[in-house]
Amino acid sequence: MTTGLRDEKVFRECPVCDYPRAQAHWRLGDRFFGAVPGNFLLYRCEACACVFQDVAEIEQRIPSFYPPGYWWKPGAGISGLERAYREWVVRRDQLSFVLSLTQGQEKLRCLDIGCGEATFVRLAVAAGLDTYGLEQSKEAADCDRSGRVFHGSERDLIENGEKFGLLTLFHSLEHMAEPFDYLRGLQKLLTRPGGLVVQAPNTESLQARLFGSRWYGLDCPRHITNFSLYGLCYLLGKAGYRIRRVRHFSLRDNAAGIASSLFPMLDPMSQKVRLLRRTGAAHSVGLLLKELVYLNLFLLAQPLAALEAALGRGGTVTIYATID
Ligand SMILES: [Zn+2]
Repeated sequence: MTTGLRDEKVFRECPVCDYPRAQAHWRLGDRFFGAVPGNFLLYRCEACACVFQDVAEIEQRIPSFYPPGYWWKPGAGISGLERAYREWVVRRDQLSFVLSLTQGQEKLRCLDIGCGEATFVRLAVAAGLDTYGLEQSKEAADCDRSGRVFHGSERDLIENGEKFGLLTLFHSLEHMAEPFDYLRGLQKLLTRPGGLVVQAPNTESLQARLFGSRWYGLDCPRHITNFSLYGLCYLLGKAGYRIRRVRHFSLRDNAAGIASSLFPMLDPMSQKVRLLRRTGAAHSVGLLLKELVYLNLFLLAQPLAALEAALGRGGTVTIYATID
């Protein structure tokens, strides 16, 4: 359910730029996964264009936002095809970006935060990077067979004295309750100099503007703060990082954002979670057919995704920032 709230004068301070009068903008339900009942209030900051929830209003419910099966698991049969596809897009998207930053630094120690079932970790290790993963979900961390995934939090690693030269956060920061404090805290995990890669949906993208409250990138209520490119750069700068590089095109996410916004009932990840909840099965012929239709939509949406990236309005932005 979507409700416009332009006439209601409800304000909160923006967690990104501290603008004091960010206004209630939408009241949205869990449109994609249907994991939680009810609607959630989203505020939009006029100053930095970020869209966020008030953490105090949702704090107790956050664990319930993540349904069983939210994390993709490798397997046989149909999952073999999925695995090949996922590895291809991660290799061409996230890994290629990271490798372009790390050339000539073979000894760099990397940590992928919120690594899920660790596809990126496996591919980065295979490409010669000394990469580890951190995952709070036991279900996802248990998928790992490499021994390179830590199950726990950043605080556990800091207490153990672990240090990394590069941290990657692919679609993690928007899930954090306190993104500024979180980014400041990550400095304790970084060597000096150190680097950080953040990939997140962009509220100033063409697709975000086109779809409004129906934009997949909002993923209400799991995304607590949705950033604009400006807002994300501002927050990183405030937390002590220097912006070095910005990329607007994401092979994995941008066309998918368009396809899933247009046809949420075909979105593979949420459909899998819904099937699991309904029947207890992870696969079905119906789901496979939906995935094949979705694959065609994903390919058809690529030119629009390329256009918005060329205009500097990519659906997902990837930022490399460093600390001295
Ligand atoms: Zn703001």
